[in-house]
Amino acid sequence: MSGIVGAGIVVSPFLACDEASKSGGSDASDKTDNKDDGADKAPMTFELPALGYGYTALAPAIDAETMEIHHSKHHAGYVRKLNNALKETSGYGGMSLDEIVMNVNEGDTGVRNNGGGHWNHSMFWDVMKPGGASEPSGKLKEAMMGAFGSLKDCEEQFYSAAKGVFGSGWAWICANDDGSLFITSTENQDNPMMKNVVEKTGRPILGIDVWEHAYYLNYQNERGEYIKSWMDLINWDVVAANYDAATMS
Ligand code: MN
Repeated sequence: MSGIVGAGIVVSPFLACDEASKSGGSDASDKTDNKDDGADKAPMTFELPALGYGYTALAPAIDAETMEIHHSKHHAGYVRKLNNALKETSGYGGMSLDEIVMNVNEGDTGVRNNGGGHWNHSMFWDVMKPGGASEPSGKLKEAMMGAFGSLKDCEEQFYSAAKGVFGSGWAWICANDDGSLFITSTENQDNPMMKNVVEKTGRPILGIDVWEHAYYLNYQNERGEYIKSWMDLINWDVVAANYDAATMS
């Protein structure tokens, strides 16, 4: 999978699910791939995905200036620094973004922070939509009811997790292998798929960025107000597709 270039749903890192599981999470370091000196495969080069909507599209929940800086400076920076870190760090040759995030070593700080940053933001843009989209339905709704009792309880727990992140980080709704759901949070740009980093691993189907850069221009210290507004932007159709992708076997 060479492309994390597209917009919208195409960006969803879950599309690499199958590919990642086929490789069994092993790295490419032992494989010579019959090239030259048998060195590690070259790392993939990643690109900033285009947004599926304009910078003004999510206003007033998220103002255009915040969107532009967040996407064209912050996310672009993670992509640039990830590409640089991959050149300087062995063991990630040929890996897709999903594989990098799943297999990153805790101490490979550049790959961890910027690989997570790229993955997390790619999902973040994807799960928002001007005006939001419907309510959870189908299998996703059943899973939410099963895990939390009601959609409202699920949303309240997600809100609390996001509000409660100390410092910079993310809150997530994740799927376990058996399709059950749980809510968690991560620090900085860590991701629940980072099995060498986080305690509780799972497949994120929804994630909110609660770094101050995501909201400070408009909301200042009122993180809770940002989270409430953000939850009205959730594209539940994409979250449902993420859930389906995460639970296919
Ligand atoms: Mn961010």
